[in-house]
Amino acid sequence: MSRFSLYKTTRWKRSRLDHLSREPICRYCRQMGFVNDGSLTAAGERQSNPKRRFLVVDHIVPHRGDLALFWDQANWQTLCPDHHDIVKQREEVRGFSNARGPDGWPLDPHHPANR
Ligand SMILES: [Zn+2]
Repeated sequence: MSRFSLYKTTRWKRSRLDHLSREPICRYCRQMGFVNDGSLTAAGERQSNPKRRFLVVDHIVPHRGDLALFWDQANWQTLCPDHHDIVKQREEVRGFSNARGPDGWPLDPHHPANR
């Protein structure tokens, strides 16, 4: 099964909705001090493009097809499309995620600290 067809499974669709009901706002927007349920841009302004009014369930550590990482709900966060694009672009440039666990240590096995 390709890493992309995982997103088409009933299990993912159900789990995704379950996650969104528990975390219904963008995590990064909340850290910036406002509540974005998918109707705002990352600048906190009304999203004028209706095709970008939604929320993404993002994998904090990129799963790269790793099933354990893919299904680990502790590795999921809700993001608005703007923040999702920003986070993913940074990861692609660097090749790893900077997300840290509660102990402050980088979570991504590809982070230089874990190599
Ligand atoms: Zn956001």
